Amino acid sequence: MITDPPAAPTHSLPGIGPAKAAKRAEKPAPPEITDPLAAPTRSLPGIGPAFAERLAEKGLETVEDLLWCLPRRYDDVRDAKLLCEVVDMAEGTRATFIAKVASSRMVFVRGRRWAEVRLGPTDLERGRMAEFQLPASAVVRWFNVWAGIEKRMPAGSTVTLSGVVKKRNGRLELANPDILAIDIAELVELPLDGAAAGTTPAPKKPKPMPTIIARYPDVAGVPASKLRAACQTACARVGGIADDGVPKTIESAAAMPSLAETLARLHEPPADISAEDLASLNRGDSRWQRRLAFGELFALGVAVALRRRERRGDAAVPCPRAADLAAALAKALPFEPTNAQQRSIRELGDDLARSSPMNRLLQGDVGSGKTCVAFAAALQVARAGRQTALMAPTELLAEQHAETWRAWAKATGLRIELLTASTPKPTRQSLLALVGAGKIDVLLGTHSLIAESVGFHALGLVVIDEQHRFGVAQRAKLRDKGDGQGAPHLLVMTATPIPRTLALTAYGDLDVSILDELPPGREPAQTRILAGKRGETAAYKLIAERVAVGERAYVVCPKVEGDPDSEPRESEAGERPRAGPAWKDATTVATELADAHPQLRVGLVHGRLDGESRDRVMRAFKQGELDVLVATTVIEVGVDIPAATVMVVHDAERFGLAQLHQLRGRVGRGGGVAHCLLVTGGSVSEDGKRRLDAMVATTDGFRIAEEDLALRGPGELLGPRQAGVPRLRFGSLTQHTELLLEARGHAERILDEDPDLVRPEHAPLRAALTRRLAQSVYGAESG
Ligand code: ADP
Ligand code: MG
Repeated sequence: MITDPPAAPTHSLPGIGPAKAAKRAEKPAPPEITDPLAAPTRSLPGIGPAFAERLAEKGLETVEDLLWCLPRRYDDVRDAKLLCEVVDMAEGTRATFIAKVASSRMVFVRGRRWAEVRLGPTDLERGRMAEFQLPASAVVRWFNVWAGIEKRMPAGSTVTLSGVVKKRNGRLELANPDILAIDIAELVELPLDGAAAGTTPAPKKPKPMPTIIARYPDVAGVPASKLRAACQTACARVGGIADDGVPKTIESAAAMPSLAETLARLHEPPADISAEDLASLNRGDSRWQRRLAFGELFALGVAVALRRRERRGDAAVPCPRAADLAAALAKALPFEPTNAQQRSIRELGDDLARSSPMNRLLQGDVGSGKTCVAFAAALQVARAGRQTALMAPTELLAEQHAETWRAWAKATGLRIELLTASTPKPTRQSLLALVGAGKIDVLLGTHSLIAESVGFHALGLVVIDEQHRFGVAQRAKLRDKGDGQGAPHLLVMTATPIPRTLALTAYGDLDVSILDELPPGREPAQTRILAGKRGETAAYKLIAERVAVGERAYVVCPKVEGDPDSEPRESEAGERPRAGPAWKDATTVATELADAHPQLRVGLVHGRLDGESRDRVMRAFKQGELDVLVATTVIEVGVDIPAATVMVVHDAERFGLAQLHQLRGRVGRGGGVAHCLLVTGGSVSEDGKRRLDAMVATTDGFRIAEEDLALRGPGELLGPRQAGVPRLRFGSLTQHTELLLEARGHAERILDEDPDLVRPEHAPLRAALTRRLAQSVYGAESG
């Protein structure tokens, strides 16, 4: 975390050649290039081979690495307490104080070792002893340290420490306090008003020399003071020539300090900095820290904008709106589209009519009616003589689409076909022939359609359903599916709301349409939190009642079986099973439920079943042959079962917020009252409680997504090692939304002026893009 490691130069950015990347990849810089930033740390005064070795272990190899090794915290020694004041403080408070070392030694007892330092009042404090009642002394211990630390604090030296106040038998004892400074002579010798004169009563607190102490990350084997000196020296030497790619013009347009100033201030804040500004530094929202965040977000904005422009440069065959399109759609659909659906249909329609490929994300909660928007687009494309491929994540969903699309298509004359792994071979052969001949307007299937060698006659539109983890590479692959006349238009539909900041970055090259309105008559599910065994009983009772009137229920559990081997590695929320009641397992729950309510027909699905068996049980539930489906979270996203009205989630505190929201979205699709019962197991963590409360508080997927992002951070939200999530060091997608938007605006402006970044003043920007973003933005494709 200390350094910003040069990204592996595997992917090149659009418009940026491999030469730059290659240059950075070579370890030892060619001798004729004397880049002071790339100089080894050893080249700085005071850094010998041993010191350099320690630094290298932490990844700090060059002067530039040291320059970017920034303090984690700043301690204000101006309000350092005297020892006697600390003696007065309550246990558990953190105190920064100055004291004089009375003795120091290493103690070795039964294999344990610690440094023990006895402290007494400093000279200036001694002069004022009379003012204080308590004897000022303390014992400080540093455990598990290597011998040597005690020698750095010989008797007589003055130390500034920061630690948590603890007392034993009325005596001050601190364990492992931070050492801020050793032997700050000025502090001791500072003449005090009053104290020196010995007349007027001294002020309560002495006014030592203003000093802010920068606290750097720990580097094993390197005293903090040496590291501080090294980083500050590096900054003095090269801080003025570092460049993160933000052009001067942008810097002043955004009213940001220069990078040189920023780095200098971060390494050494002004001695007269106000307490307020210091607090802002420690919170990480000072203007200098914002400047670093801006640099990152700006580079990110440029990278995303470059990609978007590159895609816009592709050619697509325009599919203009046929004159009778609106009428045909109205005839096809059994309902009136909502305003949100109409808006999205319009947005898509405009895109499709262009000669550059549509690249659009359609977001809308489960049940918001995304299918009809896709259908409208497919109709427009078909009327323009081109074909549509729709890909669903599972066969069952593909079948569900086929059912819906065929029903709607009746009035339009569109030919809809389904192609999945279970399509019999002869049928498959003839289907492929028909697709190749352009006789089929819409081909529905699973994601494997992309991989397969389906030859379309004129592929105009690709729709990806329920898959927001659709990577850049997969999107690129689609272009090859074009028929030589141009890339197909692309529509990605997702029920996982993506917070705006993420949509702008990870999905920044996609335009976004949003369905923020549910079809009429849809009541949000009533959500309740129920605790323990009694909660479970109440939940099962509700299930029995609803089933008695012909409705159906889901019961979701965090794991499959009761045996310890099947303990989940980790829940989505990242919580491991703790001591206390074991996690509910689907197998046991299914049995218990059937025992308690024998009239219920209970089915079981989980991830250990193969896809076929899973689909079979799901189908039985859909068709009403089962009343209750007990499941792990594998239950399909987007399966439309209007009769399902109850969702019970066991150990709900262990699920992630987005996941809970998805689960809840599966009930209440048929109108009428739906219930979501979140049953908690053992003790609920703070975060767990916050998630459950958020679920009760709102059914708005976007608010949930924002909350989720705040709770878990972007990487977690989109899955582990998620592609498309930039690795940011200073910028934060949750805290810097406004800064991100501003940076994005500037990025667009720069590219308007200099689309290929060829101007000399943009060379540092190109370098920064290659260095920082090549990997994180356009890296792995799983996402
Ligand atoms: P999503 O894919 O967004 O989860 P669907 O497209 O499956 O949602 O739609 C959910 C249900 O709502 C379907 O049964 C669909 O027919 C119905 N529906 C969609 N739009 C409307 C509307 N405007 N009015 C009434 N019902 C609608
Ligand atoms: Mg759907």
